[in-house]
Amino acid sequence: HAASARHQSHQRYLEGQDEEHLRQLTLIRDLQSAVTCDQLHMVYQPKIDARSGEVVEFEALMRWQHPSLGFIPPDEFITLAERSGNIRPLSRWMFNAVCSQLAAWQRQGQRLSVAINLSAADLGDADLVALLLNHLRHHGLQADQLALEITESAVMEDATLASHSLNRLRQAGLTISVDDFGTGYSSLAQLKRLPVGELKIDKSFILQLDSEDDDATIVRSTIEMGHSLGLRIVAEGVENAASAGLLKEYGCDFLQGYWIARPLPADSVIEWLGGNNPFPLSAIRHAK
Ligand code: C2E
Ligand code: MG
Ligand code: MG
Ligand code: MG
Repeated sequence: HAASARHQSHQRYLEGQDEEHLRQLTLIRDLQSAVTCDQLHMVYQPKIDARSGEVVEFEALMRWQHPSLGFIPPDEFITLAERSGNIRPLSRWMFNAVCSQLAAWQRQGQRLSVAINLSAADLGDADLVALLLNHLRHHGLQADQLALEITESAVMEDATLASHSLNRLRQAGLTISVDDFGTGYSSLAQLKRLPVGELKIDKSFILQLDSEDDDATIVRSTIEMGHSLGLRIVAEGVENAASAGLLKEYGCDFLQGYWIARPLPADSVIEWLGGNNPFPLSAIRHAK
């Protein structure tokens, strides 16, 4: 009966494949209504100065509540949107959502800065620069209130095109940050040719950071090399006081992660700031 058992498990595998495929097709089909039917929203995760604890900015992260499938993680739907050529409407919705939010906070007396994540397709959008600058102007915001995060792979996909948009945005005063650094194939030397001001070390190196481990060596040397090229270094995925302490010791400039705060709904941001700016880094010493 081994053969029939094998047949059954193969059958289940195929059904699993079909289900997965069907889910993907459903999500791709529903991406459009996600934008038009108000199913998307942004959450905001703070980034703090590792020395002073001061909140430097918030990263805007997209959320999709699908009407029947529930919460869809962005790693899933952003990837599907990119692969199916549907990312631009999502990005355009996001630019407006973030700039409106910044303007709303400003009306409440808080001048905040937000970093947004861009896809490779956004960088290839000939209208990107004009669009972003128009949004800023329309909402009465300054260029230093918006920063851009782009993954290594997005930049390397079409480096010439990307560097054209990025140079113009940099000239306009926006900060450009390379996200998930360490997971792609770019070298610091290649990145140096782009108008990049900041590196975000990927969370896979940070989550289990331990001074005895290889990750620590990679993190330390990335911080050193980055600094010698004049770049600021951010660590994402800081989940505990121990890794925050090590990163501070290694000279990492900024920290982001669940230990500081999970991504927050927009209407909790000002209240969170009230109790956490500056963030109490003294907790690091207590934990050691
Ligand atoms: P990312 O830009 O590298 O964002 C960091 C991800 O790590 C976020 O996941 C964040 O919630 C999560 N994170 C933050 N701190 C911690 C921590 O301490 N521990 C752990 N385990 N995770 C932490 P999220 O929100 O699920 O987003 C996943 C990815 O989806 C983002 O990675 C980004 O590449 C993409 N994404 C999200 N929003 C957008 C968007 O508006 N546009 C584009 N193009 N991509 C987006
Ligand atoms: Mg990011
Ligand atoms: Mg990242
Ligand atoms: Mg990521």
